[in-house]
Amino acid sequence: MIKIVGRLRCPVCSEPIQIDEKVFLDIINTVIHQKCYYKALRRLPIQDEGSFQKMLLKYPFLHDDEDDSI
Ligand SMILES: [Zn+2]
Repeated sequence: MIKIVGRLRCPVCSEPIQIDEKVFLDIINTVIHQKCYYKALRRLPIQDEGSFQKMLLKYPFLHDDEDDSI
């Protein structure tokens, strides 16, 4: 179905982001765990927030670039 689930990693903790986890989407379209965002050394402004599932449904481009994500 949505192949990116389990493959997209949080840039802060490097863990795969799970479908039901709360995330932020920053202005350069990086998905970051909400719990990790506050630990990040460099933080960009947030453009949206919610569950990863919501982001995938709302922003189809998140799963257009599967091949260069690893
Ligand atoms: Zn994280």
